[in-house]
Amino acid sequence: MDKASITPTYVPPTLKPLKLTAWRTAQWLAWAAGMFLWGALIFKPALGLHLLWNVLIPVAPALLVVAPGVWRNLCPLGSLSLAPHHFGVSLGKRLSKTWRGRLYLGAFLLLIVVIPLRKVVLDTNGPILAAILFVVGLLAIGMGFVFKWKSGWCSSLCPVYPVELLYGGQPLASVPNAHCSACLNCVAPCSESTAGLSPRTAVDTKLGKWVGVVLTGFFPGFVWGWYNVPSYSGWEGFSHLHVAYGLPFGVGGLTLALYLALRTASPKHEDLAARIFAAAAIMTYYWFRLPPIFGIGAPDAAMIVDISPWLPAWSATALRIFESVAFSWLMLGRTSERRAWETAPPKIEEQPTAEQPSGIIAPDLLQGEHA
Ligand code: SF4
Repeated sequence: MDKASITPTYVPPTLKPLKLTAWRTAQWLAWAAGMFLWGALIFKPALGLHLLWNVLIPVAPALLVVAPGVWRNLCPLGSLSLAPHHFGVSLGKRLSKTWRGRLYLGAFLLLIVVIPLRKVVLDTNGPILAAILFVVGLLAIGMGFVFKWKSGWCSSLCPVYPVELLYGGQPLASVPNAHCSACLNCVAPCSESTAGLSPRTAVDTKLGKWVGVVLTGFFPGFVWGWYNVPSYSGWEGFSHLHVAYGLPFGVGGLTLALYLALRTASPKHEDLAARIFAAAAIMTYYWFRLPPIFGIGAPDAAMIVDISPWLPAWSATALRIFESVAFSWLMLGRTSERRAWETAPPKIEEQPTAEQPSGIIAPDLLQGEHA
């Protein structure tokens, strides 16, 4: 069956050429930075680990709150997963709802299995981290090879996707969709273009909803527990797996129980409870992470810039109050503002032929719309 046998309705590009060039350049730069980081993890592990854990990762959660679309447009793994479509070799299969729910569960499990491994080995061993990222990259390409556009990876199995949904429910800014200049409805509801999606509503199946409920309740305690696990060096972490997993999972279980009790006690306030728990998770993250960024009370390796000698003794408290107020306002105080992560591209109506059922070609292959 020939992909060219689909005759799509022509849709003019939605981005002006200059903007499109700017986004394409940013995507290439992000991809090059990702490759540099990956190479550094192997050949200059100290540099690679510092750039990833102390520069990129501390910034990423805040970016997901403020403008998740920027991350969705630039993520190097996301671009990698779309490569099979750009090269015209993707099978472009439509992902069923049932399987999307299962992949979403897989994303959540990947997330909570890999994060505790940081304290065990991934915070200190660049080559092992590079090997894991290599496998994740293969998974991203594989999902892009089999499934239609973003359905298999970016909007299902990517382990960052549940966190994007948890933190990105009330973005401050929407940006243009730099991957999809036209929409072929690869997933529904579209994660990019639907305002107010949450972990509980993004994947429209019973399993998807329950993954979202568990993530929402579990994550604040999980983050708190993770920060209270000591960092192990060498191979000693492998003999402390019960601590590395036990503490985040134990406290995560407690916050999940509290969240489920609140939902049961007051189903009317389910949305509010979910937003409070999401805000609690990111506040907990920066409660521990923000002061060390500036060299306050942290091992040298955890900081981006050491300005602690010039700061007063109450700086850590001030930073914590600042981040708590900021995320309370961003995630709880702007209930009337509903924005999607990205502006919606126009829809393409597929014209299936007798030989070709609808929905098996990715949007980038249509009319040269996608670079
Ligand atoms: S805009 Fe359309 S093609 Fe792009 S991710 Fe959303 S549903 Fe898929």
